[in-house]
Amino acid sequence: MLRADGTADCDACELPMFPLSIERGTVHLECANRHHGEAPLPPDGPGRRAVESWITRRGAQLHEQHERWGTDADMDDEEERSGEEHI
Ligand SMILES: [Zn+2]
Repeated sequence: MLRADGTADCDACELPMFPLSIERGTVHLECANRHHGEAPLPPDGPGRRAVESWITRRGAQLHEQHERWGTDADMDDEEERSGEEHI
């Protein structure tokens, strides 16, 4: 289901789906229309790195939005900031 670049096609609307998170060997994906899907996590290698890269980038974007909204002010965000870049 996953492509080599870590994305997949949405079953419902055929838009590309992007990885949101990894949970117990399963990749959770979402398309632009907010349909959700799942795919098995690829074995260690370029495929898995692509998935982790999407999640890292998405996490960084969400973090910026939180700062703009002024929420989660007292949340410890050091973990996200020290996250390794896979690009
Ligand atoms: Zn969709």
